[in-house]
Amino acid sequence: MKTLFDINKNRCPRCRKFVIFKKPFDLVDPLAMYDYCEDCGLNLNPEVGFYWGAMVISYMITSVPLLVIALGLTLYYQWSVWAAIGVVLLVSVLFYFKVLRVSRTIWLYVMWNNPEFEQEKNTIEKLNDSRQKEL
Ligand SMILES: [Zn+2]
Repeated sequence: MKTLFDINKNRCPRCRKFVIFKKPFDLVDPLAMYDYCEDCGLNLNPEVGFYWGAMVISYMITSVPLLVIALGLTLYYQWSVWAAIGVVLLVSVLFYFKVLRVSRTIWLYVMWNNPEFEQEKNTIEKLNDSRQKEL
């Protein structure tokens, strides 16, 4: 339960204190994140394209509730399909930024708790270390 609370607050998956998105909220760049957790040093952007998986999370957490709303309005309340689509679009717009950020946070939590990713993180850190030595 605390994990869900921390995900909702976009906190770092390791220390659970630091909020990973920059403040204040910027409409032009709503996904502005810190590169590292300022509390525990966790790398929040371990590789290019790391957050592509967040798209799948976004789809997973929005598709079912929106489908339930649409089907409920059309089948139970006998609304027209266009009215139901309008409500679904409105709900999507209202929760757009929240879903965008929470999807990234969930992805970070999933990857942070994945033992296979632990090996990958070590490999990436070794590569970064060797690159710095070359420079
Ligand atoms: Zn942290």
